Amino acid sequence: MIPEWIRTISVVIPLYNEEENVQELHAQLTEVMQSLGRDYEVIYVDDGSTDRTLSLLEELASQDHHVVVLSLRRNFGQTAAFAAGFDFAGGDVIVTMDGDLQNDPKDIPRLLSHIDGYDLVSGWRKKRRDPFLTRRLPSRIANWLISTVTGVRLHDYGCSLKAYRRDVIKNLRLYGEMHRFIPAVASWYGVRVTEVETTHHPRRRGKSKYGMGRTVKVLLDLITVKFLQSFSTKPIQFFGPFGLAFGAAGVAISLYLSLRKLLLGESIGGRPLLLLGVLLIIVGIQLIGMGLLGEMLVRVYHESQRKPIYVIKKIIGKKEK
Ligand code: UDP
Ligand code: MG
Repeated sequence: MIPEWIRTISVVIPLYNEEENVQELHAQLTEVMQSLGRDYEVIYVDDGSTDRTLSLLEELASQDHHVVVLSLRRNFGQTAAFAAGFDFAGGDVIVTMDGDLQNDPKDIPRLLSHIDGYDLVSGWRKKRRDPFLTRRLPSRIANWLISTVTGVRLHDYGCSLKAYRRDVIKNLRLYGEMHRFIPAVASWYGVRVTEVETTHHPRRRGKSKYGMGRTVKVLLDLITVKFLQSFSTKPIQFFGPFGLAFGAAGVAISLYLSLRKLLLGESIGGRPLLLLGVLLIIVGIQLIGMGLLGEMLVRVYHESQRKPIYVIKKIIGKKEK
C-alpha cells in the first residue's frame, strides 16, 4: 500500500544519449504511474545528449502533460542531472531511476510502500545483470568500503532507483559525482534509510557511459564524504592531532641532537636525523595551520550564509519568531 500522505510523485530521470530507450521507457513508466492513482510528474533531464534523445523527449512533452523536460546546455554528468531534476521537482516524494531501462519502473510501487517510517528507500539490485569482472566485482568492493567507512550499511550504493521524501533532497547539495553517496551524505541529517530489493535488467540498447575509471573517482569521493561527515564543522580536530604528533616528534629529535652537540660537543650537521627533525617540525606547523585555516573557512561558510550547523526536523509548541 502506498501511504496516504503521498499526493504527488515526481520521477527524475537523467538521460545522456539514450535515443533507443526513450520511448519504451516512457511507455513502461506511464503504465506504472497511471496505476498508482496519484498525481505525478516525470522530469526527464537531458544531459547534453548529442543524438535524438532531446527531440524525442520534446515530442513526449507535447503529447503528455505529465512530462517536463529539462535540457542541460552540455553534458554535466549524472549527478548534476539529478540535481537539476531535484531543484525542479515538486512532489511529496521524488523517485529517481536510470533512463536505460536497466531499472524497472514496476518496482516504483514497492519502493513507495516502504517509505513510511523512512526518509529514503534505496533499491538493491540483488540479481545484478552486468558483467562480473568489470562491474559487479568493483561494485561489491566499493559497497563494502563505503558502508564500512561511512557507517551507513547498504548493499548497493550504485542503484539509481530510489525514493526520497521531499525534504531530504531539498536539504541536499550535490557536487562532482556524489549522487551515489546520497544515502551516506543524507545520514548526516539524520535521514532514515532502508533498502528494498529491485529487479535489474541487462542493458539491451545504447551504451554504458562508464568504465573502470570510475573506481578511482569513487575512492576520492569517499574520502571527501568521510571528511565532511566527520570533520566539516571542526577541521582542526582532523589536522590537529597529526600536526601535534609530528611537531612534538620533531621537537624531541631536535632537542636530543642539540643536547649531544652542547654537552658532548658532537658534530650533528651531517646526521640524517637532523633533517627528519626539521622536516617534522615544519610539517607539524603546516598541519596545524591548515586546521586553523579550515576553522576560519567553516565560520565564513556558515556565518556568511546563515547556515546553522544543525538540522531541525520540526518545532513543537512554539509559534514562529
Ligand atoms: N547519464 C547521464 N549523464 C552522464 C552519464 C550517464 O545522464 O554523463 C545517465 C544515462 O543516460 C543513464 C544513467 O545516467 O540513464 C546511468 O548511466 P549508465 O546506464 O551508463 O550507467 P551504468 O548503468 O552503466 O552504471
Ligand atoms: Mg545502465
